[in-house]
Amino acid sequence: MAKVLSANLGYPRIGEKREWKKALEQFWAAKISKDEFLETIRGLRLSYLRKQKEIGVDLIPVGDFSLYDHVLDTAVLFGLIPERFDKGEKEISLETYFSIARGNKDAEASEMTKWFDTNYHYIVPEISNETKPRITENRLLTLFNEAKQELGITAKPVIVGPVTLLKLSKGYDRNHFQTLLDSLIPLYIQVLSELKNAGAEWVQIDEPILAKTLPSEDVAVFQDVYQAIKEGVPDLKLLLQTYFEAVDDYEEVIKLPVDGLGLDFVYGKKANLEAIKAFAFPQDKVLAAGVIDGRNIWKNNLAATFAELETLLAAVGGRDKLWVTPSSSLLHVPVTVASEKELDPVLKNALSFADQKLSEAVTLAKGLNEGKDSIEVQLEKNRVDLDALQQSAHRNNKEVQKELNHLGSDLPTRPGSYKLRQQIQEDAFHLPLLPTTTIGSFPQTQEVRQARRNLRRGEWTKEQYDQFIRNETAKWINIQEDIGIDVLVHGEFERNDMVEYFGEKLAGFAFTRFGWVQSYGSRCVKPPLIFGDVAWTAPLTVEESAYAQSLTRKPVKGMLTGPVTIYNWSFVRNDISQADVFNQIALALRKEIHALEEADIRMIQVDEPALREGLPLKEEKKANYLHRAVYAFRLATSFVNNDTQIHTHMCYSEFDEIIEAIDALDTDVISIEAARSHGEIISTFEDFKYKKGIGLGVYDIHSPRIPSVDEMKSYAERALQVLDPKIFWINPDCGLKTRRPEEAIPALKNMVEAAQEVRAEL
Ligand code: GLN
Ligand code: ZN
Repeated sequence: MAKVLSANLGYPRIGEKREWKKALEQFWAAKISKDEFLETIRGLRLSYLRKQKEIGVDLIPVGDFSLYDHVLDTAVLFGLIPERFDKGEKEISLETYFSIARGNKDAEASEMTKWFDTNYHYIVPEISNETKPRITENRLLTLFNEAKQELGITAKPVIVGPVTLLKLSKGYDRNHFQTLLDSLIPLYIQVLSELKNAGAEWVQIDEPILAKTLPSEDVAVFQDVYQAIKEGVPDLKLLLQTYFEAVDDYEEVIKLPVDGLGLDFVYGKKANLEAIKAFAFPQDKVLAAGVIDGRNIWKNNLAATFAELETLLAAVGGRDKLWVTPSSSLLHVPVTVASEKELDPVLKNALSFADQKLSEAVTLAKGLNEGKDSIEVQLEKNRVDLDALQQSAHRNNKEVQKELNHLGSDLPTRPGSYKLRQQIQEDAFHLPLLPTTTIGSFPQTQEVRQARRNLRRGEWTKEQYDQFIRNETAKWINIQEDIGIDVLVHGEFERNDMVEYFGEKLAGFAFTRFGWVQSYGSRCVKPPLIFGDVAWTAPLTVEESAYAQSLTRKPVKGMLTGPVTIYNWSFVRNDISQADVFNQIALALRKEIHALEEADIRMIQVDEPALREGLPLKEEKKANYLHRAVYAFRLATSFVNNDTQIHTHMCYSEFDEIIEAIDALDTDVISIEAARSHGEIISTFEDFKYKKGIGLGVYDIHSPRIPSVDEMKSYAERALQVLDPKIFWINPDCGLKTRRPEEAIPALKNMVEAAQEVRAEL
């Protein structure tokens, strides 16, 4: 009988207890041999496949597993090796592979960057005009055979498609694109033919670039590419997989000569459904329906999704033309809820990580095949669990909801204009021209981390710990005064992380024990869960800031993380709008800022390093996002007195798309990263004629190197060619938590000296 199938697009690599990370790091540290490492990795890889099989997934991917990153894997497969790492190897050794990803003593690592709008980072392939792609080793074939021989699984190999691969690569002239593509296509065909000969039925070709707004000539490229591939391997079924958004050019994409199309019905739901309605779905293709959120951690509303799938089933050419899948690879969610033993059951029962999501896909497919009755029990449990969270006190904070309802649509506004505030603040603070400051954190040394461990393990009392933090703060207030910095910070010694610290003190947040996801390489993050109404119940930072301020006559900046960054670095409830969550956090921060003002903290910095990364993929959605972000930031900050100075900080170098939003934040001072990007961003602010306080970083804090006075002077002088000295601040690129004191102190001394010398020249 023709059946609806369940399929997975990609499984997390890291393991339930981060075994993968541990193996990698032990291997890098030469604590285990290469053989031991490979054996451990193989065990993990097979256990993931076995687990998916046990869950009942019909189509299990291979090739999604990686030793670092799947884009790097694809580049290596096709011999796209940066010249500085190319030793002319036929098959690329582990050593070379990891060198590209991490650098080695002779050569810098390849750049990494964010994978679309996720928090996963891929290694950017480097291709020159001279690069001659070749097949180094058909790793997909090896993985396919392994799954077949070891577990009897006929897997679905996954590969990054040629157009996405080239679009994400750098180093070649754009007019070389076609030549490179022409040389890659035969290689794709060869890889796929070998898979076909080994018994593969389907292969999943990921082309997430289709979810971006593409120029029409790029859409035409797809037609040629897939025509060629189809002709090259006519008997292998090709699934063209998209995710993270709707495909823009649905009408064109459904004409491509492939056997199946994967669409995202979570993040691109509305537009994809409309497109199917308007243009129908081709009856000869499979629709892989990404109905289960691959990027968030909530249980799927199974009843609602079941109804959607019934509609989709009616739109395709029969049961054998529909697959139920997550909306993207499950790389972006933790492995299993089963490991969480300490969560509030009301919350835990509403969670679904990778394993649970696959079960959901299996359940839905079963319901479509055997009738809704066959999954009645699952549907009922699902409804009960979701209702319990929805009706819990966590999501029904009347006070917060009342405050939200009272918000108007006009942007909250400071009482005075920037010009007036500038005047008032000049009189209040008496800062020199080109004031110096830092971004907030000072070195998180061994001792600082040990102190946190001592408290956590009960080896220290809270009093002992607090005293330690106060001592650190006092020490660094002295250091800053000695160096001669104008605007001081308390140093953030009490913070493990800039979101977790706030989440732990606000209502509406929860923390998992094992909810890790891969960020890049072996680095994993454990995002907080914003699962209820966010509310401020007690001061978060006032004590630390007020203590620091009591030690000095110089102004000390209060230090908060902004609403958009807190949102973007968390897993967020999906039952209310993004704007509502932004604003709930903003209202909580507003109370904190009020408390800081009351405690006579007169400069308050609200960091938004993640503002840009939440930018939607589609052009037409960007303005709304930025408006919501600006609104929330101003809701939190704009009620303060004119003589309270609001700062913000961002650290990335691409400001072109958000410069207007930054200006609209209406902060008195913004500090941003510039030294690492070698001042590239100055022109953005110049073109915009930015008029408010601004510090362009003069010191790249990512490197242990201590920049010289002259180097920092030259950054400042360059900026001053375009910016008015009356608005210019001197600061590092970002916080100094990863630096050692012996690096940070001399660098800051040089920075202050540079400021003095530049001042003298004005
Ligand atoms: N205030 C924070 C710090 O200095 C800012 C960190 C960030 O921008 N990521 O550490
Ligand atoms: Zn920063």
